[in-house]
Amino acid sequence: MLDLILRNAALPDGRRGIDIGVRDGRIVAVEPTLKAEAGRSIDARGNLVTPPFVDSHFHLDATLSVGLPRRNRSGTLLEGIQLWGELKPLLTQEAIAKRALDYCDWAIGRGLLAIRSHVDICDPRLLAVDALLQVKKQVAPFIDLQLVAFPQDGVYRSPGAMELLKEALKRGVDVVGGIPHFERTMEEGRASVIALCEIAAAQGLMVDMHCDETDDPMSRHVETLAAETIRLGLQGRVAGSHLTSMHSMDNYYVSKLIPLMAEADLGVIANPFANIVLQGRHDTYPKRRGMTRVPELMAAGLTVAFGHDSVMDPWYGLGSGDMLDVAHMAVHVGQMTGLDAMASCFQAVTANAARLMQLDGYGLAPGCRADMVLLDAADPVEAIRLRAARLKVIRAGEVIAETPAPRTALTAGGSPRQLSYRKEPG
Ligand SMILES: [Zn+2]
Repeated sequence: MLDLILRNAALPDGRRGIDIGVRDGRIVAVEPTLKAEAGRSIDARGNLVTPPFVDSHFHLDATLSVGLPRRNRSGTLLEGIQLWGELKPLLTQEAIAKRALDYCDWAIGRGLLAIRSHVDICDPRLLAVDALLQVKKQVAPFIDLQLVAFPQDGVYRSPGAMELLKEALKRGVDVVGGIPHFERTMEEGRASVIALCEIAAAQGLMVDMHCDETDDPMSRHVETLAAETIRLGLQGRVAGSHLTSMHSMDNYYVSKLIPLMAEADLGVIANPFANIVLQGRHDTYPKRRGMTRVPELMAAGLTVAFGHDSVMDPWYGLGSGDMLDVAHMAVHVGQMTGLDAMASCFQAVTANAARLMQLDGYGLAPGCRADMVLLDAADPVEAIRLRAARLKVIRAGEVIAETPAPRTALTAGGSPRQLSYRKEPG
């Protein structure tokens, strides 16, 4: 006797007519025509069932703070950082936790059940660290929250930041962060990458740095990050977030850089919303897009994921926790409109992001955790096209959120009918 069977599902790998059996919070069977009884049965009606969405780059301490203490007038990255600096002294632990928990509710509704959030440690009170460690515990039944110790103002540039970062790790923050391009000089940026990777190696932690988030083609901290990963034996445990300078780099240099990154098994996290609105701001025309070289990095075998980065905060006033929105933007910014390329953008907000975060038991195979999302779409490309409704969000075999399929009642022409915007097969 099983706890749950999802019948007649389409899977992201293209299999159709699949039944998924669940017992004790784990997937125990994935096969056509599963012969078993279950306490609850859900008919997927041929729709797509995916493992949950995963956001590998977010800022939960800043989310939903838009307008506090004022709006970002220029819309630039630097005014965003300045604005966040103005807000920091006014924050309370309760207010940070409340906004983060509100966002986590949105995430659950969107089937986003794993988030890697950076947490700013450049605050002597470490309020955001304590707030998000508390939130992590509170949401653990529903969301896998991984925290990155992020020195927003520079680990060398901001007095005391290195000690605060170490203290944040001591309190339970999971991953070592950094921001080398924001240090005062290239030399200090390079030194910060080395020092932070050494901390991670000594403590057995993962690394995820905001790295080269600039249009400067000479900002090359990603090279140091890859080289340090290899030197310290951290392969597969280090990610570079943004890497937007790669958009502007010399092509010959990149032809040497990408193989180095592949040797380091470096994770790559692009943030298409942030990149398309924050990069190229000093350009007149032509205006650069700024997103890193996603198709080329994927072709070289690197694990590439997409993050939302910001939702309604000093850097970005829009968003609702929808990783299909993120994938949709990436398809356009990266000109990834080929069929396989679109499918790989779905991977970048699901399986690739899970691999980067080293999520345990993620996937749709027997033995995996029974965390799944049933979508109002036939396949990953249709899911991206429609930003399809999450009909059912399932965590450990329990339905934790439901959204009805949106349908338009059309009365034009006198014969009432329903529109789903889904193409009939054939
Ligand atoms: Zn970020």
